[in-house]
Amino acid sequence: MAAARCPGCGYTYDVARGDEAEGFTAGTPWSEVPDDWCCPDCGVREKVDFVQVSATGSPPVG
Ligand SMILES: [Zn+2]
Repeated sequence: MAAARCPGCGYTYDVARGDEAEGFTAGTPWSEVPDDWCCPDCGVREKVDFVQVSATGSPPVG
């Protein structure tokens, strides 16, 4: 798994890039993101709500 996308606003956490604004350095695996971490964009969705995508750019359509 390379990234996870917020189903609410489309924010994508990319493992390779991390999110330094959130305290996750580049390469921080999704498994190390706290379960109670909220989406930094919408602040509504939590980690458990995120949809994991194997490659950036083309998440499966559901
Ligand atoms: Zn969001």
